[in-house]
Amino acid sequence: MTSSVHPEVAPSGTGCVECLESGGWWFHLRRCTECGHIGCCDNSLGRHATTHANSTSHSVICSFEPGEDWFWSYQTNEYMEGTPLAPPLHHPVDQSVPGPAGRVPADWQDQLMGS
Ligand SMILES: [Zn+2]
Ligand SMILES: [Zn+2]
Repeated sequence: MTSSVHPEVAPSGTGCVECLESGGWWFHLRRCTECGHIGCCDNSLGRHATTHANSTSHSVICSFEPGEDWFWSYQTNEYMEGTPLAPPLHHPVDQSVPGPAGRVPADWQDQLMGS
C-alpha cells in the first residue's frame, strides 16, 4: 500500500474548512495528512473529515487536537504509525472545544447525542 502522507503540507487553518464556510461548528478536528485539509470528526454534526476522505480518496487523517498524536487510515479502518508532520500539529490551545467560539449552541451535547 502506498502511503499518502505528505508530511511537508501545512494544515489548511485552525478550524474545519467546511464548517467555517457554512457557519457551522465542530466537536473535534482532524487533519488530512495528504493535503492538509482540516475537517471535523465523526462525532461532529458535519463529519467533514470523513466526507473529505470519501470525496478525494485521501485516506489518512490524524488528530488535530492538542495532546493527541494518532493517525487513522480509511483504507484499513485502523490506527497506523504516523510521520512527523509540518506544524502546527493541533489547533490553538486557547481555541474552544467544541468550536469555534460563539457559534456553538448551548445545547450542543444534546445535538451531538441526537445525531
Ligand atoms: Zn465540519
Ligand atoms: Zn486531503
